[in-house]
Amino acid sequence: MSLFYTFENRLVLHGLLKTTTGLRIGAGRSLQPTGTDLPVLRDALGRPFVPGSSFKGVLRSCIEALLRSLAREGQQNRWACNPLEDAERCITPEQIGTKKLGLRGQQDADLKLTAWVTDNTCMACHLFGSPWLASHVQIRDWLVDETFWLGQFQERDGVAIDRDTETASAQKLYSYEVVPAGTAFEGVIVVENGARWQLGLLMAGLNEFERGSLTLGGASSRGLGGVQLAWDWSRSRYVASEQLLDYLEDPESAGQSPADLRDDWKRAMWSKLTEMLSAHNDSNETGGV
Ligand SMILES: [Zn+2]
Repeated sequence: MSLFYTFENRLVLHGLLKTTTGLRIGAGRSLQPTGTDLPVLRDALGRPFVPGSSFKGVLRSCIEALLRSLAREGQQNRWACNPLEDAERCITPEQIGTKKLGLRGQQDADLKLTAWVTDNTCMACHLFGSPWLASHVQIRDWLVDETFWLGQFQERDGVAIDRDTETASAQKLYSYEVVPAGTAFEGVIVVENGARWQLGLLMAGLNEFERGSLTLGGASSRGLGGVQLAWDWSRSRYVASEQLLDYLEDPESAGQSPADLRDDWKRAMWSKLTEMLSAHNDSNETGGV
């Protein structure tokens, strides 16, 4: 979507993600005869990185869990659906097909379809996207910070579990590679045209990364995947539409620091969620929708 077409606001967050334990984001099985059995993912220059999609997946799950825990019984799917199962999406492929058929030949069919999709999409899909709605959030790959990276990977031994006896078998050792604790990755998160309450919801999820309570990659049961996020506020900006001209002139300094706005966004999120809960109560009292 063009920046000028519907520019309402843009949030750009620069962050540093530091591993607090070994991190294992696998690249599949090694094809080389020597070396580790299970190498980590590397970029074209052989450095480890954290794919934006991996980070986004964990962030989305965290926000979905938050929304579901706050929603009333029976409303969980309207707040955050299960995007991994087509039949459990807030709008299923069948529903969209039926709706399209029903609108065929009508005036403003596209507009009506868009309005219907907007009304029936859960809050998680509104923020992170669905097959029928674009995501507001883009997360780029987290690239290793060269100042801290010494080019070292660690190799660990795993013990394969015998499926028949469910015991560890000393004959079945394998090695896997991890990125060591203390490795730092730099990343950028861009949010286009997010409503204030949506930015609050996003910050609530990102807060969990700041507190170090989410893990990335595989083998978290073995104590891997610990990360801690810190923001670089000096490079992070929030630009509203009235600041667009300043932004075009100087993207680095236009707008405001998100650090000054995030409490306000969180308040907007709480009032939105409270409003949704009371709207649900009202609709119950009048016999439901
Ligand atoms: Zn959904």
